[in-house]
Formats: sequence, C-alpha cells, structure tokens
Amino acid sequence: MVAGRVDIETQAWLDRLSSDELALARDYTTGNHWLILVGLLVSALVTWIIVRSGVLDRFYRKLEKRSWALRTLLVAGLFIVVETLLTLPLTLYQNWWRESEYGRTSQPLGDYLGQWAISFVLGVVVLSVFLLAVYWLIRKAGRFWWAWGGGLVAGFMAFLLLLSPTLIEPLFNQYEPIPEGEVRDAVLELAAEAGVPEDRVFMFDGSRQSNNFTANVSGVGSSARIAISDVAMDQASLDEVKAVTGHEIGHYVLGHIWRSVAVLAVLAIAGLWLAARIYPWFARQFGTDVPLEDIRSLPVFLFVIGLLGTLADPVTNAMTRMGETEADAYSLEHARLPDALAGALIKTAEYRYPLAGPVEEALFYTHPTVENRIRAAMEWKWRNLPDGTESE
Ligand SMILES: [Zn+2]
Repeated sequence: MVAGRVDIETQAWLDRLSSDELALARDYTTGNHWLILVGLLVSALVTWIIVRSGVLDRFYRKLEKRSWALRTLLVAGLFIVVETLLTLPLTLYQNWWRESEYGRTSQPLGDYLGQWAISFVLGVVVLSVFLLAVYWLIRKAGRFWWAWGGGLVAGFMAFLLLLSPTLIEPLFNQYEPIPEGEVRDAVLELAAEAGVPEDRVFMFDGSRQSNNFTANVSGVGSSARIAISDVAMDQASLDEVKAVTGHEIGHYVLGHIWRSVAVLAVLAIAGLWLAARIYPWFARQFGTDVPLEDIRSLPVFLFVIGLLGTLADPVTNAMTRMGETEADAYSLEHARLPDALAGALIKTAEYRYPLAGPVEEALFYTHPTVENRIRAAMEWKWRNLPDGTESE
C-alpha cells in the first residue's frame, strides 16, 4: 500500500515539470557529459602544442643559473599561464556562453571576465607553489614520494578550505547575515539545535554568477559556515528554506568536508602512483623524453593526472551522492518537512536532469537524481507522518 502511495506522490511532484522543462534539462545535462570528453580532448591538444612548441624548454634554459626552486616555480607558473590562456575559448564557451544560452546565468561578460582574471591570478600563484612542493617530493622523498603526495594533497586542501570562507570566497561574492525576520528565526533555530553558531550561517549573492537554486557548506574547523544563495532565498517558501537549511546543516554536522579530504587523499596516493608509472608512455606519445622529476614534464604529467581524475569521477561521485543522501535524511529527521524538501529539489531539476537512469547516475551524477531524492522524502513521509499531515 505504502509503496503505491510513495510512487503516486513522487510522480505528482515530477509532473510539476512540463515536458519542455524536462527536454531542456535533458539537453543541458547531456551536454555537460559530452563536455567532459571535449575537455579531455582539448587538454590533449593543448599539451601537445605546449610540448611541441618548446616554450618551456627555452624558458628553462634561460633560468639555468637560477636555483632549482626558483626555476621550478617559474616554469610551473609559465605553464599555468599558457595553458589557461590556450583553454580560455573552451572555458568561455562552457562557463559563460553556454550557461547564458540555457538561462543558467545572467552575468554580463565583463563581470565574468573580471572574476575570471581574479581566479587566474590566484590560480597561478597557488598552483605554482603547490607544484613546487610536488616536484620537491618527487626529487627528495625517494621511491615512495607518491605516498607522501597524498599527505601533501590533504594538507593543501585543508589549508585552502580553512582560508576559503575568509580570504577567497569574499573575492567573488558578498556574504551577509540573513536579514531579520521569520526566515532568519527559522534558520537559526535549526542551526542552534545542531550546535551550529548563528554567526556561521550566511546568505550570499549567488545570483551574481548563477541562477541555480543552491546552498552550500564550506570551510573547515573555525572557518566552517553555511551559505544560502539569494536565488534560493527568493524562490523558496519558508518551509523550503528550512528543508534546504536542514540539508546543509546535515553536511556540516556529519563532517562531509573532512570525509572528502580523506577520500581524495587516498585517491591522490593511488593516482600519483599510477601516473608516475604511465607517464613515460604518454610522454613518448606527446614527443618528449623529459624524466618526471624535471619540471618540464609538467604538461604531460598534468594531462595524465587529469585523465586519471576523470576516470575516477564515478568513485568521487559515489562519495558525494552518499553525502547528499545522508544530508537529505538529516533534513527529514530535523526539519521534518518532506514536501518542502521535495519542493526545493524540484527547483534544482532545471540544471540536473531529474529522471536519469542508474548507469548515467552512477557515472556522472554528484547528487542522486531528483526522482530518487523525492522518492526517499516521500518514503520518509509515509513512515513518519502516516496521515500525511505536514504544515506547509
Ligand atoms: Zn548537499
């Protein structure tokens, strides 16, 4: 009996999406999958251009009299600059033009480019230093440098996560306390129950970059915080805001950021070990015989890392989907608003096709499909609120 009711209610939620909306979401999501392949092909082409042009070799020779560290740092920096500029057309197409076409962003090109420039500068500085540390490990840490590499990745990620809410994210968005009123009261009540201090809950102008209905948790330790996009604030009912906040508090309380850091560190160890083994073969295909410990190996080495990272997507996606399921369950247990959660989820269907099959979900989806998430909410509803009574 219950299964039948759950199916009927789940379907009723999905029926709120018109066939045009579903077709658009299908198109957009399929395009995203293809862009993973396009990204790899462009990365191979750019790697080939950089290796064959000899640009890094010439710069490396000019720096011959400099110390190993300075030379490594500067060659890494030059590579990141050249690579980022060569992939700029794809970046612009993928992150701005296409997003505008699908109505996912209303950001003017000028503002987009301004913010791109900020992340470009930030990326060059941060990545060069990180790569210097990686090449130092390759040279100095002996045979098991890749094992140390996992620790380096974890430490570096934790460092960035710690700085992100105070130093990085404010460069792109404004974070403010939620304005006084019933929404703020409801959100802070949920936060207080979970032991989340009230000065850790923010609203941000996510509409600057994206029309997506979102909220997130970022930072670690004392910098951890919950932020809800103004898009969600504007489009959601009070109960929907509560359900979404409950979900984000779930991520926060359950320590999902730390779990991600741990899993990525383990994947990094495996990835670096494998990359070091297959690097020579890829280097030959791109027409170079530079050994891995030489910074001029960087283009091919990073291509290999990117390829392995893409192949590992199903693993990382399975981890994030598990976290999303747990955060939904947390919201249901604490906000106890299954219909409001479903109402919020249906608003995310426009940027993530809600009816994907299990194979597509396993390969590509960072979140379970909206269909599966709503079904879980409806199952919870009939188990815990059997008369279907819920205030909305
Ligand atoms: Zn989530």
